Amino acid sequence: MTAKKPQHLPNFSIQKKEFNINDFILSKELLINEDIIIDPFYCNECQSIFKNFSSCNNCKKLICLDCIGKYCKFCKNYYYECGIDKNLISLLNNIKLKCPLICHNTFLYKNLKEHVMKYCPNTTLIYTCFFCEKKFEIIPNKTDLSLLEIHNQKCEDVLLQCSFCEIVYKRNEIKNHLNVCQEKFIYCTECKLEYKLKFESPHKEFFCKVIKKEKEDINKIIEEFKNKDI
Ligand SMILES: [Zn+2]
Ligand SMILES: [Zn+2]
Ligand SMILES: [Zn+2]
Ligand SMILES: [Zn+2]
Ligand SMILES: [Zn+2]
Ligand SMILES: [Zn+2]
Repeated sequence: MTAKKPQHLPNFSIQKKEFNINDFILSKELLINEDIIIDPFYCNECQSIFKNFSSCNNCKKLICLDCIGKYCKFCKNYYYECGIDKNLISLLNNIKLKCPLICHNTFLYKNLKEHVMKYCPNTTLIYTCFFCEKKFEIIPNKTDLSLLEIHNQKCEDVLLQCSFCEIVYKRNEIKNHLNVCQEKFIYCTECKLEYKLKFESPHKEFFCKVIKKEKEDINKIIEEFKNKDI
């Protein structure tokens, strides 16, 4: 019994992981010029160079948006956000960094997102199984791609085409279908011919007997013919 995968159906759709700056630890080691690390750019809470940052209305110190509590960590007052000094932002934006994905490229802080999404060879790709929507994180040239092939062979939702009736079924349904597919050919041990399952009763009740009878008659004639010759 055979089942094949329809050619026109892809197995995996591929997309880049969405950019989320919080996925990165921007440690001090990423700075090209370590002298430049001055406290205003470094968050002690997350041990990272500022990501999405904000400023305390009271003491004006910078803090990561994700590290803000109800109260300012520095002046202990209730935290109110205020506009950030443009000079500080521009200084931070122009700090040179090594890639946090360790691709050995360098770029300005303001180009981090662009680098990671467009240029970094170490960007993670998300492969989504077209059939069951399971996701796989793939790092090009690093992740062993055989895990996709293994999934492809196991995925219960993969669609397979019945080679008899050409109707498409999920992998976990096709086994049952193949037992009952009406277009399936059955080999008849009585008459030694094949018939489609949907013709089972006419075959058994009529054709098989006729064919058997004809075969027997032909054999009889052959036998008689042989005997005559001798
Ligand atoms: Zn932080
Ligand atoms: Zn404060
Ligand atoms: Zn990179
Ligand atoms: Zn799947
Ligand atoms: Zn079928
Ligand atoms: Zn038969």
